[in-house]
Amino acid sequence: MNEYMTISNAYVTGDLSPENKAVASCKDGDTVVFDCRNCYDDRLMADGTVIEPEKSIANPATGPLFVEGAMPGDTLKVEVLDIKLKGKGYMRQSIVCGAFKERYTERRVKEYDVSGEKVQFNDTLSFPIRTMIGVIGTAPVEGHQSTEVPGDCGGNMDCKEIVAGSTLYLPVNTEGALLSMGDLHALMGDGESLVCGLESAGWVTVKVSVVKGWKLPTPCLIHEGGKRFSTIQSHPDLYMSAKKAANCMLDFLTAYTTMDDYDGGRLLSLKGDLAICHIINDLLTVRMEIDTSILDAYGVKLP
Ligand code: CA
Ligand code: CA
Repeated sequence: MNEYMTISNAYVTGDLSPENKAVASCKDGDTVVFDCRNCYDDRLMADGTVIEPEKSIANPATGPLFVEGAMPGDTLKVEVLDIKLKGKGYMRQSIVCGAFKERYTERRVKEYDVSGEKVQFNDTLSFPIRTMIGVIGTAPVEGHQSTEVPGDCGGNMDCKEIVAGSTLYLPVNTEGALLSMGDLHALMGDGESLVCGLESAGWVTVKVSVVKGWKLPTPCLIHEGGKRFSTIQSHPDLYMSAKKAANCMLDFLTAYTTMDDYDGGRLLSLKGDLAICHIINDLLTVRMEIDTSILDAYGVKLP
C-alpha cells in the first residue's frame, strides 16, 4: 500500500511484556505500518458465530516493534499519521460488563459498512467515521499486561482522541520500547458504555521517535490539530483515575512552567477538563485535557 515497512497482522500478541520477542525493528524516526486485526481477532461473523474460537486472542495487538535507540527512561513519541480501515465494522452486546449489562441477556451482533466516510447507524442516523486506536502501548516495567487492560505503559486505554493527526507519548521501560497496537474503533463515544466501539480491522501508519531528557506524564497525547493536550491515567476506582490524571497534569505544569501547586491547581480547576475514556473493565481510564495555548504562553514546546 506504500513504501513503509508493514508489520503483518499474522504477528499479534495478547499482552504487553518486556519478555515478548520483537517481531520487527526500525530506526528512531522511521515510519511503520501496523496491520491490525479487529478486537474479535477477525473471527466474529455477522450472525454471531465465531470462527475457530479456540484459537482466538482477545483484543489482539500487532507487534511488538523494537525501536532502535530507545532505552529505559526515554519516552517514545508515536505520531499517528494515517488509519485505513478494512472489512466490516462490528458491535457485540456485552452481558458481563458495561453501563447496560443488566438490560441484556443475549450477545447480539451488528455489522456495519465502514468503507466510506460515514457509517449508516440505522435508517434514521448516520455519523462521520472517526477511527481511533483502542489498544496502544509499550512494554511495562515487568510482567505481562493483558491487551484487555490499560496501564502506565498504555494498552487498552480506549481514548477516543488517539486518531490520525494525534501524537501519543509512551514510556520506554525496556530496550527498544516494544510498541504494539490494535483494537481500532471506526467510531466510539467517551466511556465506551457498551464495552465495544465500532470494532474494525485496519492499517495504522505511525512515525516513532525516541525522546530523551523529558519527564512527560506518560501516557499523554497531543490531540489532532494540536490545540489540546491530555494526560491519561487508569485505576480500579474512577475517582482515583480522575485524580491521577489531574495530578499528572499538575505535576507537568509545575515542572515545566513557573506555576506552583497553588497557581496550577487554580488553573486546572478553571481550564482543565476531565473526560472518561472508558468504563469497560476493572481498570477505568480518565484523561485531563488542557489547551496547548497554556503551554505556548510559557514557551513550553513539547518534543
Ligand atoms: Ca478497547
Ligand atoms: Ca474495542
